[in-house]
Amino acid sequence: MQLLDGKLLSENIKAELAAEVEALRGRGGKTPHLAAVLVGENPASQVYVSSKIKSCEQVGFKSSLIQRPASTSEQELLDVVRQLNEDPDVDGFIVQLPLPSHINEEKITLAIDHRKDVDGFHPVNFGRMAQGLPAFLPATPFGIVEMLRRYNIETAGKHCVVVGRSNIVGTPISILLSRKGYPGDCTVTLTHSRTQNLPAEVRRADIVVAAIGIPQFIKGDWIKEGTVVIDVGINRFPDTTKKSGYRLVGDVDFEAVAPKCSHITPVPGGVGLMTVTALLMNTLKACKKEIYP
Ligand code: NAD
Repeated sequence: MQLLDGKLLSENIKAELAAEVEALRGRGGKTPHLAAVLVGENPASQVYVSSKIKSCEQVGFKSSLIQRPASTSEQELLDVVRQLNEDPDVDGFIVQLPLPSHINEEKITLAIDHRKDVDGFHPVNFGRMAQGLPAFLPATPFGIVEMLRRYNIETAGKHCVVVGRSNIVGTPISILLSRKGYPGDCTVTLTHSRTQNLPAEVRRADIVVAAIGIPQFIKGDWIKEGTVVIDVGINRFPDTTKKSGYRLVGDVDFEAVAPKCSHITPVPGGVGLMTVTALLMNTLKACKKEIYP
Protein backbone atom coordinates (compact mmCIF):
# COMPACT_ATOMS: atom_id res chain seq x y z
CA MET A 1 0.00 0.00 0.00
CA GLN A 2 1.30 3.43 -0.95
CA LEU A 3 0.13 6.64 0.69
CA LEU A 4 -0.83 9.41 -1.73
CA ASP A 5 1.00 12.19 0.04
CA GLY A 6 -0.86 15.45 -0.48
CA LYS A 7 1.61 17.34 1.68
CA LEU A 8 4.66 16.35 -0.36
CA LEU A 9 2.88 16.89 -3.69
CA SER A 10 1.59 20.31 -2.62
CA GLU A 11 5.07 21.35 -1.58
CA ASN A 12 6.45 20.27 -4.98
CA ILE A 13 3.71 22.09 -6.89
CA LYS A 14 4.11 25.21 -4.75
CA ALA A 15 7.84 25.25 -5.51
CA GLU A 16 6.97 25.08 -9.24
CA LEU A 17 4.43 27.89 -8.85
CA ALA A 18 6.92 30.06 -6.95
CA ALA A 19 9.48 29.57 -9.74
CA GLU A 20 6.86 30.56 -12.34
CA VAL A 21 5.96 33.70 -10.40
CA GLU A 22 9.65 34.64 -10.31
CA ALA A 23 9.95 34.04 -14.04
CA LEU A 24 6.81 36.08 -14.74
CA ARG A 25 8.17 38.96 -12.68
CA GLY A 26 11.54 38.66 -14.39
CA ARG A 27 9.78 39.21 -17.73
CA GLY A 28 8.10 42.30 -16.30
CA GLY A 29 4.79 40.45 -15.86
CA LYS A 30 2.13 40.88 -13.23
CA THR A 31 2.17 39.22 -9.80
CA PRO A 32 -0.82 36.84 -9.51
CA HIS A 33 -3.41 38.24 -7.11
CA LEU A 34 -6.03 36.13 -5.31
CA ALA A 35 -8.75 37.76 -3.20
CA ALA A 36 -10.85 35.87 -0.65
CA VAL A 37 -14.16 37.06 0.77
CA LEU A 38 -15.14 35.77 4.20
CA VAL A 39 -18.57 36.55 5.62
CA GLY A 40 -19.28 35.84 9.30
CA GLU A 41 -17.30 33.85 11.83
CA ASN A 42 -17.65 30.18 10.87
CA PRO A 43 -14.49 28.68 12.50
CA ALA A 44 -13.91 26.09 9.74
CA SER A 45 -14.22 28.80 7.07
CA GLN A 46 -11.74 30.98 8.96
CA VAL A 47 -9.24 28.10 8.98
CA TYR A 48 -9.74 27.41 5.24
CA VAL A 49 -9.39 31.07 4.24
CA SER A 50 -6.31 31.68 6.33
CA SER A 51 -4.67 28.57 4.85
CA LYS A 52 -5.43 29.90 1.33
CA ILE A 53 -3.92 33.29 2.17
CA LYS A 54 -0.85 31.67 3.75
CA SER A 55 -0.36 29.50 0.66
CA CYS A 56 -0.46 32.61 -1.55
CA GLU A 57 2.36 34.12 0.50
CA GLN A 58 4.40 30.91 0.18
CA VAL A 59 4.38 31.08 -3.63
CA GLY A 60 4.81 34.85 -3.94
CA PHE A 61 1.23 35.67 -4.97
CA LYS A 62 -0.43 38.83 -3.79
CA SER A 63 -3.52 38.13 -1.66
CA SER A 64 -6.36 40.19 -0.21
CA LEU A 65 -8.76 39.18 2.52
CA ILE A 66 -12.11 40.93 2.54
CA GLN A 67 -13.95 40.25 5.79
CA ARG A 68 -17.58 41.17 6.41
CA PRO A 69 -19.78 40.52 9.45
CA ALA A 70 -22.48 37.82 9.43
CA SER A 71 -25.06 40.63 9.31
CA THR A 72 -23.91 41.67 5.79
CA SER A 73 -26.86 41.89 3.42
CA GLU A 74 -27.02 40.03 0.12
CA GLN A 75 -26.86 43.36 -1.73
CA GLU A 76 -23.75 44.43 0.19
CA LEU A 77 -22.06 41.16 -0.72
CA LEU A 78 -23.11 41.55 -4.36
CA ASP A 79 -21.45 44.99 -4.29
CA VAL A 80 -18.20 43.42 -2.99
CA VAL A 81 -18.37 40.85 -5.82
CA ARG A 82 -18.95 43.59 -8.40
CA GLN A 83 -15.94 45.57 -7.14
CA LEU A 84 -13.73 42.49 -7.37
CA ASN A 85 -15.05 41.71 -10.86
CA GLU A 86 -14.06 45.22 -11.93
CA ASP A 87 -10.70 45.44 -10.13
CA PRO A 88 -8.03 44.95 -12.84
CA ASP A 89 -5.39 43.98 -10.27
CA VAL A 90 -7.43 41.00 -8.95
CA ASP A 91 -6.87 37.95 -11.17
CA GLY A 92 -9.21 35.63 -9.32
CA PHE A 93 -11.31 35.54 -6.17
CA ILE A 94 -13.35 33.22 -4.02
CA VAL A 95 -16.33 33.78 -1.77
CA GLN A 96 -15.89 31.23 1.03
CA LEU A 97 -18.95 29.00 1.51
CA PRO A 98 -21.15 28.43 3.43
CA LEU A 99 -22.67 31.92 3.58
CA PRO A 100 -25.10 33.04 6.30
CA SER A 101 -28.56 31.63 5.58
CA HIS A 102 -30.11 35.00 4.57
CA ILE A 103 -27.74 35.17 1.56
CA ASN A 104 -28.54 33.15 -1.56
CA GLU A 105 -25.30 31.32 -2.44
CA GLU A 106 -26.43 30.62 -5.98
CA LYS A 107 -27.03 34.32 -6.63
CA ILE A 108 -23.54 35.18 -5.36
CA THR A 109 -21.88 32.43 -7.42
CA LEU A 110 -23.69 33.63 -10.55
CA ALA A 111 -22.57 37.22 -9.92
CA ILE A 112 -18.87 36.26 -10.02
CA ASP A 113 -17.22 36.98 -13.37
CA HIS A 114 -16.51 33.45 -14.69
CA ARG A 115 -13.10 34.68 -15.90
CA LYS A 116 -12.16 35.28 -12.24
CA ASP A 117 -13.99 32.23 -10.83
CA VAL A 118 -10.91 30.35 -9.59
CA ASP A 119 -13.12 28.11 -7.40
CA GLY A 120 -14.68 26.82 -10.64
CA PHE A 121 -18.23 26.97 -9.22
CA HIS A 122 -19.78 29.21 -11.89
CA PRO A 123 -22.08 27.33 -14.31
CA VAL A 124 -20.04 28.65 -17.28
CA ASN A 125 -16.93 26.91 -15.93
CA PHE A 126 -18.91 23.82 -14.93
CA GLY A 127 -20.48 23.57 -18.41
CA ARG A 128 -17.16 24.09 -20.16
CA MET A 129 -15.57 21.42 -17.94
CA ALA A 130 -18.38 18.98 -18.83
CA GLN A 131 -17.79 19.64 -22.54
CA GLY A 132 -14.01 19.22 -22.20
CA LEU A 133 -13.34 22.90 -23.01
CA PRO A 134 -10.70 24.94 -21.14
CA ALA A 135 -12.24 25.91 -17.79
CA PHE A 136 -11.38 26.68 -14.21
CA LEU A 137 -11.87 23.25 -12.66
CA PRO A 138 -13.38 23.12 -9.16
CA ALA A 139 -10.44 23.04 -6.78
CA THR A 140 -11.02 19.68 -5.04
CA PRO A 141 -11.59 17.62 -8.23
CA PHE A 142 -8.67 19.49 -9.87
CA GLY A 143 -6.49 18.55 -6.89
CA ILE A 144 -7.57 14.91 -7.17
CA VAL A 145 -6.81 14.58 -10.90
CA GLU A 146 -3.45 16.30 -10.35
CA MET A 147 -2.69 13.79 -7.61
CA LEU A 148 -3.58 10.82 -9.87
CA ARG A 149 -1.44 12.32 -12.65
CA ARG A 150 1.62 12.94 -10.50
CA TYR A 151 1.47 9.45 -8.98
CA ASN A 152 1.05 7.98 -12.50
CA ILE A 153 -2.04 6.08 -11.43
CA GLU A 154 -3.57 4.21 -14.32
CA THR A 155 -7.16 5.28 -14.99
CA ALA A 156 -8.04 4.18 -18.54
CA GLY A 157 -10.73 1.50 -18.50
CA LYS A 158 -10.80 1.41 -14.69
CA HIS A 159 -14.08 1.28 -12.86
CA CYS A 160 -14.34 4.34 -10.64
CA VAL A 161 -17.06 4.52 -8.00
CA VAL A 162 -17.72 8.03 -6.68
CA VAL A 163 -19.70 8.20 -3.42
CA GLY A 164 -21.52 11.53 -3.04
CA ARG A 165 -22.96 13.76 -5.78
CA SER A 166 -22.29 17.31 -4.52
CA ASN A 167 -21.76 20.09 -7.06
CA ILE A 168 -18.28 20.81 -5.73
CA VAL A 169 -16.84 17.29 -5.43
CA GLY A 170 -18.83 14.17 -6.40
CA THR A 171 -20.50 15.34 -9.60
CA PRO A 172 -17.51 17.18 -11.12
CA ILE A 173 -14.97 14.41 -10.31
CA SER A 174 -17.31 11.87 -11.93
CA ILE A 175 -17.35 14.02 -15.08
CA LEU A 176 -13.57 14.57 -15.11
CA LEU A 177 -12.72 10.89 -14.66
CA SER A 178 -15.13 9.81 -17.39
CA ARG A 179 -13.70 12.32 -19.88
CA LYS A 180 -11.41 11.27 -22.73
CA GLY A 181 -7.67 11.41 -21.96
CA TYR A 182 -5.49 11.06 -18.88
CA PRO A 183 -6.39 11.08 -16.05
CA GLY A 184 -9.78 9.91 -17.25
CA ASP A 185 -11.23 7.28 -19.58
CA CYS A 186 -12.73 5.59 -16.49
CA THR A 187 -16.08 3.85 -16.40
CA VAL A 188 -17.74 5.86 -13.65
CA THR A 189 -20.56 4.96 -11.27
CA LEU A 190 -21.87 7.95 -9.33
CA THR A 191 -23.52 6.83 -6.09
CA HIS A 192 -25.43 8.79 -3.44
CA SER A 193 -27.83 8.59 -0.52
CA ARG A 194 -30.53 6.83 -2.62
CA THR A 195 -28.18 4.19 -4.07
CA GLN A 196 -29.25 0.64 -3.28
CA ASN A 197 -26.68 -1.76 -1.87
CA LEU A 198 -23.86 0.77 -1.77
CA PRO A 199 -21.29 -1.73 -0.35
CA ALA A 200 -21.80 -3.95 -3.44
CA GLU A 201 -21.28 -0.96 -5.76
CA VAL A 202 -18.10 0.10 -3.95
CA ARG A 203 -16.78 -3.49 -4.03
CA ARG A 204 -16.78 -3.35 -7.85
CA ALA A 205 -14.45 -0.33 -7.88
CA ASP A 206 -10.84 -0.11 -9.01
CA ILE A 207 -10.85 3.53 -7.85
CA VAL A 208 -13.08 4.89 -5.06
CA VAL A 209 -13.66 8.61 -4.46
CA ALA A 210 -15.41 9.13 -1.11
CA ALA A 211 -17.11 12.54 -0.63
CA ILE A 212 -19.97 11.97 1.76
CA GLY A 213 -19.28 13.92 4.94
CA ILE A 214 -19.85 11.01 7.35
CA PRO A 215 -16.81 9.95 9.43
CA GLN A 216 -15.36 6.53 8.53
CA PHE A 217 -18.40 5.64 6.41
CA ILE A 218 -16.60 3.37 3.90
CA LYS A 219 -15.77 0.08 5.65
CA GLY A 220 -12.93 -2.39 5.13
CA ASP A 221 -15.13 -5.14 3.70
CA TRP A 222 -16.49 -2.76 1.00
CA ILE A 223 -13.08 -2.58 -0.67
CA LYS A 224 -11.53 -5.19 -2.94
CA GLU A 225 -7.80 -5.88 -2.90
CA GLY A 226 -5.69 -3.41 -4.90
CA THR A 227 -8.17 -0.52 -4.99
CA VAL A 228 -7.07 3.14 -5.19
CA VAL A 229 -8.95 5.09 -2.51
CA ILE A 230 -9.31 8.87 -2.56
CA ASP A 231 -10.80 10.08 0.72
CA VAL A 232 -12.18 13.61 0.35
CA GLY A 233 -13.95 13.74 3.71
CA ILE A 234 -12.82 16.12 6.43
CA ASN A 235 -14.78 15.41 9.61
CA ARG A 236 -14.25 16.40 13.23
CA PHE A 237 -14.28 13.28 15.39
CA PRO A 238 -14.50 13.65 19.19
CA ASP A 239 -11.12 12.85 20.80
CA THR A 240 -10.54 13.70 24.46
CA THR A 241 -6.78 13.16 24.10
CA LYS A 242 -6.58 16.27 21.88
CA LYS A 243 -6.48 19.81 23.24
CA SER A 244 -9.11 20.86 20.71
CA GLY A 245 -11.35 17.95 21.79
CA TYR A 246 -11.42 16.46 18.27
CA ARG A 247 -9.27 15.01 15.53
CA LEU A 248 -9.82 15.07 11.78
CA VAL A 249 -10.96 11.86 10.09
CA GLY A 250 -12.02 11.08 6.55
CA ASP A 251 -15.09 9.40 5.09
CA VAL A 252 -13.12 6.13 4.92
CA ASP A 253 -12.34 3.81 7.83
CA PHE A 254 -8.60 4.19 7.18
CA GLU A 255 -7.36 1.47 9.57
CA ALA A 256 -9.55 -1.20 7.99
CA VAL A 257 -9.34 0.00 4.37
CA ALA A 258 -5.66 0.94 3.96
CA PRO A 259 -4.22 -2.62 4.15
CA LYS A 260 -6.35 -3.62 1.14
CA CYS A 261 -5.48 -0.65 -1.07
CA SER A 262 -2.82 -0.19 -3.70
CA HIS A 263 -2.93 3.57 -2.90
CA ILE A 264 -4.85 5.66 -0.38
CA THR A 265 -4.98 9.34 0.66
CA PRO A 266 -4.54 10.06 4.38
CA VAL A 267 -6.75 12.53 6.28
CA PRO A 268 -5.33 15.00 7.07
CA GLY A 269 -2.45 15.31 4.60
CA GLY A 270 -4.24 14.14 1.47
CA VAL A 271 -6.87 15.80 -0.71
CA GLY A 272 -7.36 18.86 1.55
CA LEU A 273 -3.88 20.24 0.87
CA MET A 274 -4.24 19.51 -2.84
CA THR A 275 -7.46 21.57 -2.89
CA VAL A 276 -5.68 24.70 -1.71
CA THR A 277 -2.85 24.07 -4.15
CA ALA A 278 -5.33 23.64 -7.03
CA LEU A 279 -6.77 27.04 -6.17
CA LEU A 280 -3.29 28.53 -6.56
CA MET A 281 -2.87 26.75 -9.91
CA ASN A 282 -6.17 28.25 -11.09
CA THR A 283 -5.08 31.71 -9.93
CA LEU A 284 -1.86 31.49 -11.93
CA LYS A 285 -3.90 30.39 -14.99
CA ALA A 286 -6.18 33.41 -14.43
CA CYS A 287 -3.20 35.77 -14.20
CA LYS A 288 -1.71 34.32 -17.40
CA LYS A 289 -5.16 34.41 -19.06
CA GLU A 290 -4.69 30.77 -20.03
CA ILE A 291 -8.38 29.81 -19.89
CA TYR A 292 -9.94 33.01 -21.21
CA PRO A 293 -7.31 34.79 -23.40
P1 NAD B 1 -22.32 17.32 0.56
O1 NAD B 1 -22.93 17.25 1.91
O2 NAD B 1 -22.62 18.47 -0.33
O3 NAD B 1 -22.68 15.99 -0.24
C1 NAD B 1 -22.64 14.73 0.37
C2 NAD B 1 -23.07 13.69 -0.61
O4 NAD B 1 -23.03 12.43 0.07
C3 NAD B 1 -24.49 13.87 -1.13
O5 NAD B 1 -24.47 13.84 -2.54
C4 NAD B 1 -25.26 12.67 -0.60
O6 NAD B 1 -26.14 12.10 -1.57
C5 NAD B 1 -24.15 11.68 -0.27
N1 NAD B 1 -24.56 10.88 0.88
C6 NAD B 1 -24.99 11.31 2.09
N2 NAD B 1 -25.31 10.27 2.87
C7 NAD B 1 -25.08 9.16 2.14
C8 NAD B 1 -25.26 7.79 2.38
N3 NAD B 1 -25.71 7.33 3.55
N4 NAD B 1 -24.93 6.93 1.39
C9 NAD B 1 -24.46 7.38 0.20
N5 NAD B 1 -24.29 8.67 -0.08
C10 NAD B 1 -24.60 9.55 0.86
O7 NAD B 1 -20.76 17.13 0.79
P2 NAD B 1 -19.44 17.67 0.02
O8 NAD B 1 -19.41 19.15 0.02
O9 NAD B 1 -19.25 16.93 -1.25
O10 NAD B 1 -18.35 17.17 1.07
C11 NAD B 1 -18.16 15.80 1.39
C12 NAD B 1 -17.04 15.66 2.38
O11 NAD B 1 -15.85 16.16 1.81
C13 NAD B 1 -17.20 16.45 3.68
O12 NAD B 1 -16.58 15.73 4.73
C14 NAD B 1 -16.44 17.74 3.42
O13 NAD B 1 -15.97 18.33 4.61
C15 NAD B 1 -15.32 17.21 2.61
N6 NAD B 1 -14.73 18.17 1.67
C16 NAD B 1 -13.38 18.17 1.63
C17 NAD B 1 -12.74 19.01 0.73
C18 NAD B 1 -11.25 18.95 0.66
O14 NAD B 1 -10.62 19.90 0.27
N7 NAD B 1 -10.66 17.81 1.02
C19 NAD B 1 -13.45 19.86 -0.11
C20 NAD B 1 -14.85 19.80 -0.05
C21 NAD B 1 -15.47 18.94 0.84
